[in-house]
Amino acid sequence: MDGGGGGGGRSREAVAGELERLRAEKKELDLRIRLLESELETCSPAPASSAGENACGAGGACQTRRGFAQDDALPAYMIYRYSRHLLLPDFGVEGQRKLSSSSILVVGAGGLGSPVALYLAASGVGVLGIVDGDDVELNNLHRQIIHQEAYIGRSKVKSAADACRAINSSIKVVEHHHNLKPSNALEVVRKYDIVVDATDNLPTRYMISDCCVLLNKPLISGAALGLEGQLTVYHHNGSACYRCLFPNPPPVAACQRCSDSGVLGVVPGVIGCMQALEAIKVATDVGEPLSGRMLLLDALSARIRIVKIRGSSPVCTICAENSVFTQEDFQKFNYEAFTSSPMSDKSAPSLDLLPESARITCREYKSLVDKGEPHLLLDVRPAHHFQIVSLPRSLNIPLAALEEKLPMLETSLKETAGSSDEQPSLYVVCRRGNDSQSAVQLLREKGFHSAKDIVGGLQCWAQDVNPDFPAY
Ligand SMILES: [Zn+2]
Repeated sequence: MDGGGGGGGRSREAVAGELERLRAEKKELDLRIRLLESELETCSPAPASSAGENACGAGGACQTRRGFAQDDALPAYMIYRYSRHLLLPDFGVEGQRKLSSSSILVVGAGGLGSPVALYLAASGVGVLGIVDGDDVELNNLHRQIIHQEAYIGRSKVKSAADACRAINSSIKVVEHHHNLKPSNALEVVRKYDIVVDATDNLPTRYMISDCCVLLNKPLISGAALGLEGQLTVYHHNGSACYRCLFPNPPPVAACQRCSDSGVLGVVPGVIGCMQALEAIKVATDVGEPLSGRMLLLDALSARIRIVKIRGSSPVCTICAENSVFTQEDFQKFNYEAFTSSPMSDKSAPSLDLLPESARITCREYKSLVDKGEPHLLLDVRPAHHFQIVSLPRSLNIPLAALEEKLPMLETSLKETAGSSDEQPSLYVVCRRGNDSQSAVQLLREKGFHSAKDIVGGLQCWAQDVNPDFPAY
């Protein structure tokens, strides 16, 4: 404190702030001093000219340890940093050297990608590439632990790369600020030895697998949804590719995404950690990678099963020996059409089942509420969605139960009508406006001719009518 006599002119907060900053600087300096001291212990004085690219950080060549010449010894800073790896007999210097000379691409900086990138960075992979085209959002943070609140609204790749560099400044982190597409995937994937699929949608899963086959890269594939997760290593040591196992995509209805179905944050965390582990094993040739086998996690019952999966299929259109699928075919392939689902998590597949006359917009609905028009609002979301938030005086009958509960709907309509002879209007809402269309279709078939769909559901209501209505 420079002659301030205990703070004359400066606030207590300012002094405390500076103290905290200086302490942090001191901590940083102490760490650097410790690293340099350990480097000094293991480095012999060597002519400056002999320091090669892999020489220790301070410029001295680490060529002599314990009196024996070891041209390929690890640089001193690595010995100290990774000492717990080096102490593992099965991993050791050789494992660390292989890891530090490997390059791994993590596709997706979300729930799976967070632990993958953090652990690969901390473990000392040579080059870590991260691909993602999205920005950090508040509802990511419960599972995407690489991102912090301060990064909300900023690029996920930038956020993830900064976090990795903060953990380990000695590795190279490459930022790819875009989503992977058939037009750019070959160019990006080509630069790496190993690929980790940490994405959450079906077309991207097919695309990454095809790309890895074409470029002959092992693929560490993970998935997490709800309270379940799975993990395997494709296209490695004769193991299958994704298309060998799933030549045809499942029907659209079977494809769930965590933005629709939910996911407990720690589940992708567990799978992501194991993806990092498998990537390290493949990079270093240590242990037995999970190729030809699939790990299935059931978080609710705390059960992990590992099942054998068949090897590469001789009739696979992509990886079979006689496959005619080329890189040009890949670049032109429409993965969204193939799987009938979008590559982006943002755009939910939107149905178009009804004529104009059977639909109204959120704004139109709002104005008829304001006018006091007698009507019944039917919310067809699942009951646990209805519990999150709902519009006033709405009746919840989930779409799946609608047909059997038509008598209940009839009764509610009669109560709404009261003594009036006219049948009140019936409006149907859901989360995003797909299920409500299916419901209106069913209701009209069953004689509820006044049923109308509220276009875009509660999501549009929050956007167009009431910004305070909580989105989820
Ligand atoms: Zn295949």
